[in-house]
Amino acid sequence: MGSGKMLLILAGDGIGPEVMAEVRRLIEWLERKRGFGLQVIEGLVGGAAIDAHGVPIDEATMADAMAADAVLLGAVGGPKWDSLPFERKPERGLLRLRKDLELFANLRPAVVFNALVDASPLKPELVRGLDIMIVRELTGGVYFGEPRGIETLADGSRRGVNTQVYTTEEIRRVARVAFEIAAGRSKRVCSADKANVMESGVLWREEVQRLHDEAFPDIELTHMYADNCAMQLVRNPSQFDVIVTDNLFGDILSDEAAMLTGSLGMLPSASLGAADAVGRRRALYEPVHGSAPDIAGKGIANPLAVILSFAMCLRLSLDRAGDAALIEAAVQRVLDGGLRTADIMQVDKARISTRVMGEAIIRELDKIAA
Ligand code: NAD
Repeated sequence: MGSGKMLLILAGDGIGPEVMAEVRRLIEWLERKRGFGLQVIEGLVGGAAIDAHGVPIDEATMADAMAADAVLLGAVGGPKWDSLPFERKPERGLLRLRKDLELFANLRPAVVFNALVDASPLKPELVRGLDIMIVRELTGGVYFGEPRGIETLADGSRRGVNTQVYTTEEIRRVARVAFEIAAGRSKRVCSADKANVMESGVLWREEVQRLHDEAFPDIELTHMYADNCAMQLVRNPSQFDVIVTDNLFGDILSDEAAMLTGSLGMLPSASLGAADAVGRRRALYEPVHGSAPDIAGKGIANPLAVILSFAMCLRLSLDRAGDAALIEAAVQRVLDGGLRTADIMQVDKARISTRVMGEAIIRELDKIAA
C-alpha cells in the first residue's frame, strides 16, 4: 500500500552515511511490518556532492528537495574540504536547502530519557521526564535585519550595527507552528521575548497574543522575558512544554535546553516552511550534531539523533504519528535495557556499535508490534 509520500535522504559526510544506514533499516521494517509504501530517493550533499559534482548541492538534488514531502539529512563537512573558499564549502549545501525551502521554524526537542537522566549536568530530580520543544524563528530577526555592517567613524573609531526587525507575518507564522505543535502535546506555549526593552519584542508579544486569541484560545499561552526563560530552564525546566521565540533568543535557548539532556548524539531537529494549499509544509529533518570526523569510519557513532529526527519526520510530514511513537518507544526500551554507544556510555552498561544499536531498535520494534 503506497502512502504517496516521498522522502529525500541526504546522508552527507563523516558519520552521516553511517547513522543514516540505521534509518534505512527502520524504513525497511516499516515497509515489511506496517505496510508503509514510502518512496525514498537519495542524493548527495556537502563534501560528498563536492567530490562527485564540484558543488555542495546540485540542481537535480535541489529539485528533488523541492518536490519531496520531507528531506532527511545526516551531516555535512569535514577536514578534507576545510580549505575550500566559503562559497564552495560543504555547509553551503545545507544553507542553500534551508534558504530555498524557506524553512522559517526550527524545532528542537529537549527530551531526557529516564535511562540517561544522569548524563544531564542538572540534578536528576530536575530533569527526570523532561520533554520540551523549542520553536525558534529561523529566517528573520537580528541575523538578517538591515542595516548591518561595520563602519569607521570620523574620529577613526568603529561602529558595528545589526538590526532586530520582525513583521506581523513573520511572527504569526512561527507562532502558528508553535500553537499547532502544542495542540498535539500538553497544550501549553510560553513565548519568550524582550518586550521590556525592545519595540520588536513588544510587537512579538502583541502578535503572538493576537494570534492566540483569534485561532488558538484552548492553548494556554504565557509570556516570559528571554533572560528569565534562560534562568528558568536551569532552575525548573519541567515547567515548560513548547517555547516559541525569535532567532537570536532561540539560538541561545535551544542550545541551553540541549545541554539539559547532556548528549549531542541523542538530539534531533526539524525545520519547517510555509504550508501549501493542501497543508503540506516543506521540511528538513536532521540531527543537531555534525559529521564528527574524529570518529567517522569507526562504526561507533550514535544513530539515535538521526533516528529520532526520522521519528519527527514521520509525525510532522508523513502522517505516521503511530509509527513515530513506536520508534520512540523502541529507543526508550533499548536504553532501559542498558545498551549504549560510546558517547552515552555509563558504568555497568554494554558498549555497542552504530550497527548493533540499529539492530537493537529493530528487535524492540518487533517485540512492541508483535
Ligand atoms: P560535531 O557535532 O561533528 O562533533 C562534536 C563532538 O561530538 C565530536 O567529538 C564527535 O565525535 C561527537 N559526536 C557528534 N555526533 C556524535 C554521534 N552521533 N555519536 C557519537 N559522538 C558524536 O561538531 P564539530 O566537531 O564541531 O564539527 C565537525 C564537522 O561537522 C565540521 O566540519 C562542522 O562544520 C560540521 N558540522 C556540521 C553540522 C551539520 O551538518 N548540521 C553541524 C555542526 C557541525
